[in-house]
Amino acid sequence: MSLEKFFNPASVAVVGASQKKGKVGYELLINLVKAGYKGKIYPVNPNTPAIEALKCYPDLGSIGQIPELVIIIVPANIVPAVMQQCAKIGVKAVIIITAGFKEIGKEGKDLEQQVIQIARRANIRVIGPNCLGVIVPKNNLNASFGGDLPRPGGIGYISQSGALLAAILDMANAEGIGFSKLVSIGNKADINELDVIEALGEDSDTKVIAGYLESITNGSSFVAQAEQISHNKPILLIKAGGTAAGARAASSHTGSLVGSETAYECVFERAGIVRCESIRQQFDYAQAFANQPPPAGQSVAVITNAGGVGIMAADAIERQGLTFAKLTDETINKLASRLPPAANLYNPVDILGDALADRYEFSLDVVLDDPNVNTVLVLLTPQAVTEPAAAAKAIVRIAQQKPDKPVIACFLGAAKVADAVKILVEGKIPNYDSPESAVATIKVMAEYVRWRSRPKRVVKMFPVNRRKVENIVERHLRQGIREISESDSKEILEAYGFVTPNGAIATTSEQAANMADQIGYPVVLKIWSPDILHKSDVGGVRVGLDNRRAVMDAFDLMMYRIPQQLPQANILGVLVQEMCRKGKEVILGMHRDPHFGPLMMFGMGGTMVEVLKDVSFYLAPLTEEEAKQMLVDTKTYRILKGIRGEEGVDIEAIAEGLQRLSQLVTEFPEIKEIDINPYIVGPAGTVPVAVDARISVEKT
Ligand code: ADP
Ligand code: MG
Repeated sequence: MSLEKFFNPASVAVVGASQKKGKVGYELLINLVKAGYKGKIYPVNPNTPAIEALKCYPDLGSIGQIPELVIIIVPANIVPAVMQQCAKIGVKAVIIITAGFKEIGKEGKDLEQQVIQIARRANIRVIGPNCLGVIVPKNNLNASFGGDLPRPGGIGYISQSGALLAAILDMANAEGIGFSKLVSIGNKADINELDVIEALGEDSDTKVIAGYLESITNGSSFVAQAEQISHNKPILLIKAGGTAAGARAASSHTGSLVGSETAYECVFERAGIVRCESIRQQFDYAQAFANQPPPAGQSVAVITNAGGVGIMAADAIERQGLTFAKLTDETINKLASRLPPAANLYNPVDILGDALADRYEFSLDVVLDDPNVNTVLVLLTPQAVTEPAAAAKAIVRIAQQKPDKPVIACFLGAAKVADAVKILVEGKIPNYDSPESAVATIKVMAEYVRWRSRPKRVVKMFPVNRRKVENIVERHLRQGIREISESDSKEILEAYGFVTPNGAIATTSEQAANMADQIGYPVVLKIWSPDILHKSDVGGVRVGLDNRRAVMDAFDLMMYRIPQQLPQANILGVLVQEMCRKGKEVILGMHRDPHFGPLMMFGMGGTMVEVLKDVSFYLAPLTEEEAKQMLVDTKTYRILKGIRGEEGVDIEAIAEGLQRLSQLVTEFPEIKEIDINPYIVGPAGTVPVAVDARISVEKT
C-alpha cells in the first residue's frame, strides 16, 4: 500500500492547532513551519483568527480546498466529529495524534471503533491514534511533536512507542544520523506495522528498515511479507514483550519448553529480521546498512595505528565467528613498499603510532583491493602526532573511490576525535566507539548477506494418508476429546510415514502376558491413562521384560501402586510394547502459537528433556535445510554425529522425521501440540522408531 499522501502531501491541515506555547497543537504546527515544509499549511481552530503568521480556519469545510493530509490533535471525544468532516470534504489521509483511545480501556476502545468505522466507510487511511506523527526529512515534513527535523538519510524508522521515537530523534540528531522516514504508529487502529514496513520496502530512499514494536497485528502475513521485503533490504527490529503462549499450555514437553520469546525468535529467523537488543545496537547496525554496501563474505581486514586495539578487534572477529582475512603476497609487497619497516604488514595491518593521514590513505587503498578481503575495519587512537580529522577525510575519500566493499571505522576517544567522527559520519563511514561493536556490526551484515543468499525454500511433500488422519481428528473434535488416544496417535503417525513399535493395551496380567508372547521378548510395559503425562515419573514404564512371569509381575505392581498414588487418574490399562533396539533418544515436537502458527521443536529426548533444555525451534513448514539446521543448533548434534569413537546415528532420518511432522501439522491446523519422545534413532540406514507420542487437537 502507498503511504504517499502521508509522506509527501501537497497540503496539511492541523485540526486542533493552538496558539498556546507548550500545547501539542502549538508545538506540532511550529515543527511543521520550522522544518520548512513547502506545501500549504491550514491551521484549524474556531477560537482564533490566526496562529503566528498563519491564517486559522474555524473548521475543515471553510478551507475551501481538500487538504491532502489532516492531522488531528483535538480531545478524543471530538475526534469522531472531525473524522465526519474529513469524510464529508473528501480527505483521504489522517494522522490522529490524540490519545485516550484503546490504550485507556473499554470506553476508549469503543471510541476508536467509531473513528475507524467512519474512516472505512469514507476510504480514509489513518495513522494512530495515540501517536507522535510522521517525519520525512527529504520533504521537509515534520508532522510530529517529537523533536527537530533530522537530516535525510537511508534509515526508515517505525515505532509503536511515540515517546521512544522522541528519544531516538534526539539521539540521532546529536550524532548526525539521517532518516528517510520516521513513522509513529501508535494504536495502529488502521495502518499497522506491516503496512509501514511494506511502504518503506518500496521506498527508494530507504536503505534499511528499523523499528520498535510491542506487538505484531497479523502473524502469518507478517512472516510472509517480511521475508519478501528482507530480500531487498534489511529489517532491524527491537521487540519488547514476548507472547504468553508458552506459559499457558504445558500438556506436552514441547509446550513446556516454549518460552515467551520463542515465537518471535522463530519469526525473525525465518523472515531474516535482525533482532536488536537496544537502541544503541540498532543504530550501530542501521548506520552500517544505510551507508555501506553489504559485504560479499565473512572475511575482515583491520588497519590500526595501535597494536593493542588491533588485537582487541582480532579477538572480536574470532569470537563472532568471522574470518580473519589472509592478505595476498601482492598486498603485503605493496604495503611494504611504502610503510616503515617496523609496521606489521599482516592482518591486522599496524601502521604504527606515528602514522599520519597519508598512511591511512595508502593502506586502506591497498587493502581494499585485496581479493581475500570482504570488509575493512579502520581503527584509530589519538596519539601524540595523529591527525584524526585528516585521517577521516582520507578514509572517506578512498571509500568513495572504492564503494564495493564496506569500510567501517572505530576512532577511539572523545574530544580529540570528535571532529573526525563528524567527518566520517558525513562521509557515510559508520563509526563505532569500540572495536567490539564495530565487529558485531560487521557480523550482522555478513549474516544478513548469508541469509539472503540461502537457497530458495523448497518444502518437500511426502506421500501420506491424509484421509485417515482427517477421520481420527474429526472424530476427536466431534466427541470433544482433546488428547488423542495411544492407538489413534499411532495410526496418525503411521499415516505420515513414521514407524511405531508393536503394542496393545492389556487390562489383565494374563492378557498382558499373552500379548507379550505374541510381540516377542523383551517387551516394555507402560501404564496407560489420559491423565498421566509422564509415565516414568510415576513408575509407569518398565523396560526389558523378557518372560511371561516378569510381564505379569510388572503388570500387577503397576496396577496396584499407581492407582494408590493417583486415585483420580482414569487408568485404561497397561500398554504392552515391543522393545526397540538401542539407539539415541531425541524429541520431535510442535507447539502451535496462536499468532504465528506451528513452532517445530527438536532436541535431546528421553525423560530429561525439561532438565537439559537442549532444544531448538523453527517455524513450520520446514525445508530440508531448515530441518537439518534445527539439529545443528543443539548440543545434542555433536553426540548424534558420533563422538569418541562411538558410531553416529542417521541424521538424515531425523531431519526427514521433522519434515514429515511439519507436513502433518501444516495440513492439520487442528493439531495444537505434538511430542514424539523418544524418537529412537540408530546408525545410518536403520529406521527410527516413534516410541511415545502425545497429540492434542482443538477446533480451529
Ligand atoms: P514417558 O515419557 O511417559 O515417561 P516413554 O514411553 O517415553 O514414557 O518411556 C520412557 C523411557 O523409557 C523412554 O525415554 C525410553 O528410554 C524407554 N522406553 C520406553 N518405551 C521403550 C521401547 N519400546 N523400547 C525401548 N525403550 C523404551
Ligand atoms: Mg516419553
